[in-house]
Amino acid sequence: MENFNIAYHCTTKQCQAGLGDKVAMRWISSTFERRDYTFGEMDQLSNRFANVLQTLGVQAGQVIFTFLPKTPEQFTAFLGSLKAECITGTLFSNFGDDALLDRLGASEAQLVVTRKSLYRKIARIRDQLPALRTVILTDVAEDLSADVLSWERLMETASDEFAIPVTAPDTPSVLHYTSGSTGKPKGVLHCHRSILQQSRTAREVLGLQANDLFWCTADQGWVTGTSYGIIGPWSLGVTQLHIGGGYSPQQWFELLQNERITVWYTAPTALRMLMREDQMAYSEFDLTHLRSIFSVGEPLNPEVIVWGRDTLQKEIYDTWFQTETGAIMIANRPGIPIRPGSMGTPLPGIEPGILADDGASLPNGEHGNLCVRAGWDSMFRTYLNNDSAYASKFRDGWYYTGDMAWRDNDGYYWFLGRSDDVINTSGHLVSPFEVESALLELPEIAESGVIGAPDDLLFEKVVAFVNFHPGTEFTPELDLKIRLHIANRLSSVAIPQEVVPVETVPKNKSGKIMRRVLKARYLGLDTGDISTLED
Ligand code: ATP
Ligand code: MG
Repeated sequence: MENFNIAYHCTTKQCQAGLGDKVAMRWISSTFERRDYTFGEMDQLSNRFANVLQTLGVQAGQVIFTFLPKTPEQFTAFLGSLKAECITGTLFSNFGDDALLDRLGASEAQLVVTRKSLYRKIARIRDQLPALRTVILTDVAEDLSADVLSWERLMETASDEFAIPVTAPDTPSVLHYTSGSTGKPKGVLHCHRSILQQSRTAREVLGLQANDLFWCTADQGWVTGTSYGIIGPWSLGVTQLHIGGGYSPQQWFELLQNERITVWYTAPTALRMLMREDQMAYSEFDLTHLRSIFSVGEPLNPEVIVWGRDTLQKEIYDTWFQTETGAIMIANRPGIPIRPGSMGTPLPGIEPGILADDGASLPNGEHGNLCVRAGWDSMFRTYLNNDSAYASKFRDGWYYTGDMAWRDNDGYYWFLGRSDDVINTSGHLVSPFEVESALLELPEIAESGVIGAPDDLLFEKVVAFVNFHPGTEFTPELDLKIRLHIANRLSSVAIPQEVVPVETVPKNKSGKIMRRVLKARYLGLDTGDISTLED
């Protein structure tokens, strides 16, 4: 039988294909140290870690987590754990005690790979985690105790040979928690078969080729960071750049230029931040080798596409997927004309549908639930400890994504919002995303978050929280200008009944606008699970 093991495809198979000496990862630390890791090294290091897990008695099917910032160990631990057929989760390194307790506790994690400074958070809750047997620290030379061990020591003595089991396609693989944009984050379990769709989309959407240098800015704590920051590109033998530092416009553009990055995958929030910088500064950089830019995670405002064309002379392609779908389902991509504001067209083999609440299939142009015909290769297999929530997402062979959208006559899909966010005002559906995108067109506005709030007359009214550019005063004239602009661009029903100036728009750690937090604050209610809210 063919081996579906994700880590086998990402390392050993690449070596067998003669790429052992090719650079798999160009690592640039937060202090700008640069180190290249070949596919051969990644193979050996992940083999070592698989052996470490076996020595420590961790069994196939048990859950282990990394809780690391971007560091080389993040990648070798992830791959090694998959080689040993463990269920592998990645925890975003900014999580606090409660978020950790939720995730480590519910999944009965056996082992965590982390760093000394982050271990303090786990130590505080460790007595509430009976299943957690071992902690490995990547930055200590010696073991701290019988169950807090040194990565360095363990790896040094482990063999770099490991016989990867022939992994069946339905073997559980990666466990990811969702971003918590609409409620409590859910533990989404995938299986090794997902690599088929991850690999296919890395080739067919991102267009990755043998000589590319690919940069995915997503943290490994979120699905994009593993599906496209690890699995997709390496399954194709493509070199990736990873950096230890965070968002920095200057450094990012230096990297794009000096490293000659060819394909860049990032998020709307990062692009919107870059748009706010001094536009002149971009003309200094030579981006001729950058072939394409992709975006995921939130709707991509048409204004951002315009900025990409005008300022960078590049197209920015929006892609749509979720933690649950495991890989890209709908996308703009080279070769297909972009319709700014649309998520693009479905990938071959993926069948989306726009369905009414009663399951009726809706024609082009009508607004409804965005669904995907069940059975695609990277489909999630359950929500951990919540089979009933999983079952409730499927009906008549369709998976209900929780997003609302419509399809035009040429088969492009247009995102309206999450079903919880779409605003029902005086009998009309208003997309918060469309209002936010229109607001962004005004030069005074840096960012906004739009919600629906209960209203006696309208059922729901549109409320816009707006972050103005520094120096802008929110006058009655500007208020009027905003209203007129929305009326002209969208419709009179979409006009915000209230514009509330704010210093910042709350976003979660993966950079998404948290409308439910805005709504709860506006209504004076409890903000619910905010474990993923940005600090
Ligand atoms: P939770 O499910 O916990 O509320 P989340 O849905 O934000 O969190 P993710 O799985 O990380 O968690 O995000 C997937 C969602 O992000 C999609 O369902 C969609 O709402 C939004 N999204 C992702 N890409 C796009 C896109 N290109 N256009 C519009 N929305 C997008
Ligand atoms: Mg979701």
